[in-house]
Amino acid sequence: MKLAVFSDIHSNIEALDCVLKKISLENVDGLICCGDIIGYGPNPNECVEKIKSIKNIKIVAGNHDKAAVGLFDINWFNDNAKAAILWTSSVLTKENKKFLGELPEKIQTENFTVVHGSPRESINEYLIKPSDMQDNLQFFETQICFIGHSHYPFVYTVENGITGLSTDITLQITSKSIINVGSVGQPRDGDNRACFLILEDNKITFHRVEYDIEKVQTKMREKFLPEPLITRLSYGK
Ligand code: ZN
Repeated sequence: MKLAVFSDIHSNIEALDCVLKKISLENVDGLICCGDIIGYGPNPNECVEKIKSIKNIKIVAGNHDKAAVGLFDINWFNDNAKAAILWTSSVLTKENKKFLGELPEKIQTENFTVVHGSPRESINEYLIKPSDMQDNLQFFETQICFIGHSHYPFVYTVENGITGLSTDITLQITSKSIINVGSVGQPRDGDNRACFLILEDNKITFHRVEYDIEKVQTKMREKFLPEPLITRLSYGK
């Protein structure tokens, strides 16, 4: 079984298209998305429709997906995120809102669990500290739990702590692990390329993909999205 796993697209269709193109060369059996299809970027409807068109994909809801359809309090968001989600909500079609509103918060298969934030609090907990990650290991039953939300790719195990994985690297998963798959549409680990991973036989390989950042930034300016959200794409921070 070979799977592609990604998260946090954030209405960035250029990044999503480049990631899906690279995934199409990998002959995967399925795809997994850890949430936040929309928010921040200029193409929410295009991203939802692209995701909807993929066969063999499992998707969980992120905090932005829920906030855009009124199922998550936007007062949790900072001013820039809030401005972007209000704009997103105003342009999303009824059908796409329905799709986002019906996404599950957690998916569990025989081999892995998928949530957006954390196994303990699927929508809103940010896993940054190793102690929080250790506490969270008891909240899922499979060997692997895939998460997104912080936009930092890493693998956490009790034995090795946090292994940061910002460049192309392969790792064998041998014990219970929380794996943050990074972000497609708004990386924050200092690498501005879109991020995804491939899982095959308990081996994960992180990939980074270049996309046309300036094209996205131009569209964001045309839609008067907050400037800090635009400039951060250049730096991947
Ligand atoms: Zn996100």
